[in-house]
Amino acid sequence: MKEALAILERGLGRAALWTRHHHRGIAAGVVTVLLGTGITAFGVAPLAPDAADLPRRLVLEDVTPLPLDEQVDALGGILLELTRNDLTRTSDTADSLLSRLNVVDAEAAAFLRRDPVARKLLEGRPGKMVQVVTGERGELKRLVARYPAEKSEQYSTHFTRLTVTRDALGLHAKTEQAPLTPQVRLGGGTIRSSLFAATDEAGLPDVIAIQMAEIFANEIDFRRDLRRGDHFTVLYESLEADGEPIAWNQAAGRVLAAQFTNNGRTYEAMWFQEPGGKGAYFDFKGQSMRRAFLASPMEFSRVTSGFAMRMHPIHKTWRRHLGVDYGAPTGTPVRVVADGVVEFAGVQNGYGNVIYVKHRGDRVTVYAHLSRMHVRKGERVSQGQHIGAVGATGWATGPHLHFEIRENGKHVDPLRVARSSEAFSIPASARPQFEALAQSVRTQLAVAEARYRHASAGNPPANE
Ligand SMILES: [Zn+2]
Repeated sequence: MKEALAILERGLGRAALWTRHHHRGIAAGVVTVLLGTGITAFGVAPLAPDAADLPRRLVLEDVTPLPLDEQVDALGGILLELTRNDLTRTSDTADSLLSRLNVVDAEAAAFLRRDPVARKLLEGRPGKMVQVVTGERGELKRLVARYPAEKSEQYSTHFTRLTVTRDALGLHAKTEQAPLTPQVRLGGGTIRSSLFAATDEAGLPDVIAIQMAEIFANEIDFRRDLRRGDHFTVLYESLEADGEPIAWNQAAGRVLAAQFTNNGRTYEAMWFQEPGGKGAYFDFKGQSMRRAFLASPMEFSRVTSGFAMRMHPIHKTWRRHLGVDYGAPTGTPVRVVADGVVEFAGVQNGYGNVIYVKHRGDRVTVYAHLSRMHVRKGERVSQGQHIGAVGATGWATGPHLHFEIRENGKHVDPLRVARSSEAFSIPASARPQFEALAQSVRTQLAVAEARYRHASAGNPPANE
């Protein structure tokens, strides 16, 4: 149905945008920018060559998800057919999977158990994306499963499509390897409880939520500063199998540009790569979003975001006990916030296993209560490197990371250091290209923002 809509939409004057109602039935939704038409209409064409340099973007062919006649058939039979999607589970049998998909068809269940090709659906790893089309009585008309490519070297470029069809002679199954396609999409939402609740509601992959939190980490503390009513818009690229973002590779997505309004202030960022240079995220004035110091020694994730909220009351502010505590399960990786040299890595009374790293500008960072340490005294470390793991050694009431920054021997607020630390600017030679891109990205994010605000105003919030 969705594919049929896409075809219709392309037919009707090749409209640049169509609102895609996510299969979870969510109001906020995700808007697809159709490749080839959408990008030009969106005026973000210069993003394409940059994104093409990403290692993930290996597939440049444009494929039509399914042959046109099948789409037309699907349109003709809309009243008689039902489509359902789900993922296979470890415990699934042919019967449990079909019943979850509302398929009432003993012959199809037997076929899935017996046929050597169809059996692959329930063999190997779970998490295969399954879509079924059923008739009026619940009988299986077609089943399509999408899962990782059979050959590991094709893992990032292709997927396996297993199709079960029914004709006058009975059921038939076949598999084929088909290319994954990169799609540029727009998403947006409003914070009601947490970032992940909002991105889930908008149908955005976790990897996009996490990238957004990392990009704006120096401006917004996503663990503590989010307000009800904060809102965001994001333009991102995802790898898709027949138009569905792939469920088996969480890394298959990348933020191209984003706008986040926190407590009434709007922050913007976009990916920019000058020809021959290394890409990075910049604000629209041309300042890099990443600074010499990261705001947080923990990567943002579903786990760390939730724990931080619960654990926070142990020590309310960095002032009270001269550091910031990040609650997280034992073993969660700890990263060094800036380039430097390890000054100490060992045991100290209250700190337990602790690492001190010396940085430029007479700054020292401290990482305490670690369960594991991966570095030694004298070792050079670079920003973002994992140097240890969260633990509860020393005087700790539970697993957490105690983190400090000292400047000339005095404790300072890590967020302030991150915000005030050196950023780098777009070089003069790349300015004109940057300005043109920033202008069009800004316009498109604003248009999208208006759209999402309008959409969320017209729909009552979901229960959370
Ligand atoms: Zn502490």
